[in-house]
Formats: sequence, C-alpha cells, structure tokens
Amino acid sequence: MDVGLAGLVVDAATDGIFIVDPVSSTVVDANGTAGHLVGLGIADVLRTRSRSTSATQPDGIGAVIDQALNGRPSATVDVWYRRGPADFMPAEASLTVISDGPRRLISVVVRDPAPQRHAEQALRTLQRQALYDPLTGFPGRALFVERLDEWARRVGHLGDSRDDLAVLTLGIDGFAQVNVSLGRGAGDEVLKVVASRLDALLRDADRNSRVTGDEFAIATAVHHVQGAIDLAQRTLHALRQPIEVGTESITLGATCGITLLAGRQIGADALLQEAETALRHGKTNRRGGWTLYQPEHQRRAKAAVRATGELLAALARKELQPHFQPVVLPDGTLTAVEALARWEHPRRGLLSPNEFVPLAERSGLIGALGEQILARSATAVAELSRSVPELAPLRLAVNAAPAQLTDRGFASTVADACEAAGLPPDRLILEITETSLLGEPLQVQRTLSAVHEMGCQVALDDFGRGYSSLSHLRDFEIDIVKIDRSFVSGLPDDAQSFAIVRAVIDMTRALNLVVVAEGVEDTAQREMLTEMGCDRLQGYLFGRPAPLDELVTHSLRPRTSGQRVG
Ligand code: C2E
Ligand code: CA
Ligand code: CA
Repeated sequence: MDVGLAGLVVDAATDGIFIVDPVSSTVVDANGTAGHLVGLGIADVLRTRSRSTSATQPDGIGAVIDQALNGRPSATVDVWYRRGPADFMPAEASLTVISDGPRRLISVVVRDPAPQRHAEQALRTLQRQALYDPLTGFPGRALFVERLDEWARRVGHLGDSRDDLAVLTLGIDGFAQVNVSLGRGAGDEVLKVVASRLDALLRDADRNSRVTGDEFAIATAVHHVQGAIDLAQRTLHALRQPIEVGTESITLGATCGITLLAGRQIGADALLQEAETALRHGKTNRRGGWTLYQPEHQRRAKAAVRATGELLAALARKELQPHFQPVVLPDGTLTAVEALARWEHPRRGLLSPNEFVPLAERSGLIGALGEQILARSATAVAELSRSVPELAPLRLAVNAAPAQLTDRGFASTVADACEAAGLPPDRLILEITETSLLGEPLQVQRTLSAVHEMGCQVALDDFGRGYSSLSHLRDFEIDIVKIDRSFVSGLPDDAQSFAIVRAVIDMTRALNLVVVAEGVEDTAQREMLTEMGCDRLQGYLFGRPAPLDELVTHSLRPRTSGQRVG
C-alpha cells in the first residue's frame, strides 16, 4: 500500500472512501469506514445500479467505471455498496482519477445516504408537525390559513360565483375541566373523538383545522348564510353527544362562531379571526349555540382587551384596595368585616366590583386581584387588631372566586398572606359561592380541606339565589351560610321572602352552621331576622363598605360609650 495515498484517505469520515486499482480491479486502500474492504475485488464491493438498464450487473462494475470516467477526471455512478457480508445498500459513488506516479488509480467515495435520509425524514416530520396537528391529523392554523387564502382568492376571482366562503370556529365547552379533572390523556381522547365527528360531517377533511388547543375551524362553501348556520347546528348537535373516555361517559358540547367572506377583499387570517371573535362572543353570551360575526363583536373584543390592559396596570400600580363592611351580632357587636374590592380609577373615580370583577374573571386576572385584596385586607385588619386591642378577635371575610378555589396553590397563598400580615388564619373567613362547587368539586374539596386545616372558616355566599343545595352544605366543609340580600330585602312584608329566609335559617341551624343575613337595611328587618334566630347581620343599617379607619371610628364610638353598633 502506498503511504503517500494515506493522506487522501480520511479515516474519520462517515463516507466510505477507498482506492481502486482498475487494472487488478481490487481495493488497495480504504478509510476506517470502508477499511474491511481492502483486498476485495471491486465487484465484491460495488455493484452497479444502472439507471439505464435498471438491472443489477454484478460483474460489470469495472466496465461501468471506465465508461463513467471515459477520459474524464471524475464521475458519479449509482451503485450498491457493500457494508458487510450480504449487506448492500443503494448509494452514490463519486469516482475520481488519481495518479500515483505511472499508476492510474481511482478514488471511490461512497456516501452512505442513511444519515441524509434520516435528516430528510426528520425534516419532513418537522414540517408535518408544524403544518398538521399530530393528535388529530388535522391541518394546523398556518396550513389552514394558507389554504383558506387560496380559496378566498379563487372565490374572489370568480366574481359571479354563487358560492360564498364560510368559516366556522368551534370551541369545546368545559374542555379545560376535562384536562384538569380527568387528566391530559382524557383530554386527548376527547379531541380525537371531536375530530372524527367533524371528519364524518364534512366533505373534505382538509378544510378542517385544529387551530388551537380546544378550538377547531371549518371552511366551507355555502350558497347562503343559512348553509353555514345549518352546518353549525349539525356540528353542535354531533359534539353534544356523550363521549366515552375510558370508563367515563362525558357530555361537553361546543360553541360556534361563524363568518362569511361575502365578497369582501379580506385575508384568510382576518376571516379566521372574525370567526374566533364571534366564538369568544358566543362563549360569554350564547354558550352551546352559534354566533354570526358582527363588526360590533370586534369593537367589544377590542374594548375588552383595552379594559384588561387597564386592569392589569391597575393591579401593578396597586390601585385596587379593599373597603370593609361590618358584620355584627344581633346585639350590634362588631364581629367581622367583609373586604370588598374597590378600584380607584384615575379617570373614572371609585369603581365598584361589578365593573371589574367579571372582567377579571374572564381575563384570568381574578387570582391576582384576589391575592392583592387578601394581602391588603389581612394587613389592615392585623394592624388594627394590634393598635386597638379591644377589637382583637375581629374576623376578616374575603371573597374567593371559583378560579381561585380550583387553583392548587390557593391554600398556600392564603397561608402566606396570613403569615406576612401577622393575621392568625383562624380569624379569616373565605366567602365562596355555590358555582365554585360545581366545576371541579374534587379540587375545591381539597382546597377547602387545606384552608380548614390551617384554621380558616368557609362561608357560602349568596345562598338562596342559585342552587341552594342542602347537599352542598353537607358535602363541602362549610361553616357559615350567608342568606342572599334579595330575600332579606323582601322582609318583613313579602311572604315568599319570609318563607325562604325561615327555611334557610332552620336548615342551616339544623346542620349546626352559622347564619348571616346580608343586605339588612332597616330595623324591621333586623328585628325579624333576630327573632328567627339569625346569628350575624350585615347591611347598610350597620355600615356601608368603607376604608377600615372610617369604619372603625364609626363602630368604635358607640361601643366605647357602652352602646352597640346599629
Ligand atoms: P357580595 O360578596 O355578595 O358582597 C355584598 C355586596 O352587597 C357588596 O357589593 C355590598 O356593598 C352590597 N351590600 C352590602 N350591604 C348592602 C345593603 O344593605 N343593601 C344593598 N343594596 N347592598 C348591600 P359590592 O361591594 O358592590 O360587591 C359586589 C360583589 O362583588 C360582591 O358581592 C362579591 O361577589 C364581588 N366582590 C367584591 N370584592 C371582591 C373580591 O375581592 N373578590 C371577588 N372574587 N369578588 C369580589
Ligand atoms: Ca361576599
Ligand atoms: Ca353576598
């Protein structure tokens, strides 16, 4: 073997590189990858894979090489390349004539196509993953929009076409809860079932898309808006049917947003966004039904985005603060204060929770809002207890929204807030509503157990207004029931209000729970409630929500002078 040639041989290369003596048709040198081939006849190493003859010619390799080179310094041929005994793979061989003194030798570089193939496959998989949803096989948002664009242009060009283009978006109602309560696997199953139902309903599966987590889209040609509505109704009906997940059968349903191209020159992305805006609008106003896009929705959506931004900034600037309303015993002794959020808006003045709590719930800011109100009110009440010792056992009631109770970190947030404020947790009451108990009862139960364990109490707010279920009082760890103000306001004259208040008081007393009446505005109501055995009273009669220092001067005055509040 010629040592000078060794330099030509790159040992570490993944390509098989070897040197062939065309006269003897043998391999005279090779790199590491092809090392085991040295000494073999070239026909054993390479077999031609001729493009022209398609047949394999085991013996004709020398001739093929000669032919390929045919006086040229280099050439490329398709070969079967031997990697081991009986292990041939298709490859491309680059031939180069090299001279070694008078000897003419040929270097053969065989590129193992495998890594390249793998790279290609990986690329294709990536492309597919980017364009298609791996779970349902539906096109993803980008591909859907691309196809929709083409389609919209086509419909636009066919000016006289009787077809209009409709885009429907479908949001699965309650999907997040499936993920949380039954696990991601169950969520995936639900999505697959939804996809197969959509597939079954539509003529061309490529016009479906899974645009985001639990949102699907459909593009379809219709003659008239009614065609889109019909499709929406059929789809909603199909998605309302129970879905089997493991041993469970769950019924979810969906909400649908619809828009039509209607001859407008707008892009597919804008069209899809309209359908999504209509869907968002439907989710709050017509859950489970369809909503046809109207420009008004966009304006409202924009306003909501702006308002959310403002609220977020307000939270950051700490413009939200608690006001406090007294809760008294029948004799007028102050026993607790309820923290009620207020937003000191730089332009609009002091805003009441009706103007921002629903927005905070929709936009996912309610957790941050609740945390801020809890922290500030706990600090204020703890400070007050320290500075005015006769108020020491004063309890603090704080409202907790449904989303907070299903948040796994909520109990520790409460613990941290109490600790940071120096408020013993057994002085904290969390006010929850019955809607909180419906969505994810197991998680809510866990949260309630955790807060109980640290000593907090739980009040069920607005009782009588919603489900008013006795079993909720039994099954969840509830200590206090607050009778909704709408019934109290009917006292003392309205017979139905009286009957309801009476029933609620009897029921809660039988269960050994504390009863609070809300919205007590006059002495007649106070007397009647006291007579019926109500434990605590709250309402304008005893004080409106106010900053804590105002409330205290008001409440302390009568107490210290020997009188009772009220
Ligand atoms: P709520 O928890 O039922 O609070 C009682 C509401 O009734 C308060 O309204 C209070 O000002 C009002 N109120 C009290 N006594 C009387 C009365 O004698 N007559 C009348 N007409 N009204 C009375 P507000 O402060 O506007 O709060 C409304 C709701 O906003 C609250 O109802 C509560 O559900 C929610 N909210 C307030 N603060 C928070 C908070 O920090 N977090 C959460 N999640 N919700 C809050
Ligand atoms: Ca409340
Ligand atoms: Ca209430």
